[in-house]
Amino acid sequence: MPAQLLSGKTFAEAIKQEVKDEIAGLGYQPGLTVIRVGEDAASAVYVGSKVRTAQEVGIRSEQIHLDTSIAEGELLAHIELLNARDDVDGILVQLPLPKHINEQTVLERVDPDKDVDGFHPINAGRLMQAHAALAPCTPAGVIEILKRSGIGIAGANAVVVGRSNIVGKPMAMLLLNENATVTVCHSKTRDLAAVCSRGDILIAAIGRAGFIRSEHIKEGATVIDVGINSVSDRDVLPTFFDGEELERRYATLDKRGATLVGDVSYKDAMARAAYFTPVPGGVGLLTVAMLMKNTVAAATMRGK
Ligand code: NDP
Repeated sequence: MPAQLLSGKTFAEAIKQEVKDEIAGLGYQPGLTVIRVGEDAASAVYVGSKVRTAQEVGIRSEQIHLDTSIAEGELLAHIELLNARDDVDGILVQLPLPKHINEQTVLERVDPDKDVDGFHPINAGRLMQAHAALAPCTPAGVIEILKRSGIGIAGANAVVVGRSNIVGKPMAMLLLNENATVTVCHSKTRDLAAVCSRGDILIAAIGRAGFIRSEHIKEGATVIDVGINSVSDRDVLPTFFDGEELERRYATLDKRGATLVGDVSYKDAMARAAYFTPVPGGVGLLTVAMLMKNTVAAATMRGK
């Protein structure tokens, strides 16, 4: 039987509705400010979607767009002003930043209580000590998908491929906090396929199109694909897709010049897994919804 697809849309809509209801009950409109530096096209799309979704759920949102040549000190001064403003509950600095700005310095300047991306070392530490209030949105979204799909995490063998600070490591911590037995893999892992194929839950956050294949997937596993890769080469599509999905991908590529592919080979996951999150339409949709949830959490933690 082919894997059952876990639709991010259904879960994201449910979370957004819950956030809306919570805000209505608060009698206070939380505020989110997103800082964008420079002209990165993907960042502009992401920020636009975050600001729009905030408005949709009743969060007051503003975007501060700064010139790419801004000095690091000036950017830090903007953050200080937002830290001090009582009407701002959440601050998000869209990454990547221009090369002359140190991302770590900037992320550490955000007030941890307003750090709705959950990237501040204080929040990473809280997550590690299992009392996270603001966890990074993408891995937190994965936990929501698992729980809302009724997939048991406690006691499961969970394998995370990728150890970045924004996805892999917090993902591992969240799974551990949910009582999974967690293995974290990376580019130096020996015999990756053998390690991955022990995973009842396999989470791929690598950044390489269709890298996870049949040999990495345990029969009947839950496979969560975090990767987002743009593929424009028609000839490689049959290595990831077959049947109707392959036809759909050809059509998308012909229309838009590229199609989004996850880190997992779609056809391999469909053949071996029990549950699978598609790309697009899976984890990505949860990220923005979780940002909204974090903004409301930040407001309530600040006594609003
Ligand atoms: P990074 O590049 O920061 O990290 C990639 C990780 O994958 C690293 O830990 C790296 O190992 C590991 N890796 C790379 N090659 C291999 C390999 N051959 N075998 C095993 N491990 C390997 O990426 P991110 O964590 O930021 O993002 C990962 C993916 O998730 C990307 O496709 C990104 O676009 C997507 N993403 C999606 C989001 C969403 O909303 N859905 C949000 C954020 C990211 P090592 O540490 O050894 O180098």
